[in-house]
Amino acid sequence: MLVNAKEAVLEELFDQYIEQLHMNCKCSRCREDVLALALNAVKPQYVTDESKLTYIKAELVDKQKNTSMLVTLAEAARKVNDNPLCESNRKGRK
Ligand SMILES: [Zn+2]
Repeated sequence: MLVNAKEAVLEELFDQYIEQLHMNCKCSRCREDVLALALNAVKPQYVTDESKLTYIKAELVDKQKNTSMLVTLAEAARKVNDNPLCESNRKGRK
């Protein structure tokens, strides 16, 4: 198993803080766009076994490091809000 631990951590933080990120649209496309932008902005951290993944998740979700991850997420959410790529959002606007 090869997993980018940052992906798991960002997904978890995203779900946890989605209300505070003030997303205009929370469809799967917009969520993926936010995660993609955030993931491109951070260094990947690959792990090969699940116990390590659980450990890294616990570390990052609890500690100060998650502040910078949240800033990254907020920045990504803002970009997607400014320029949503999903269909439903485009139709909803003029
Ligand atoms: Zn959307």
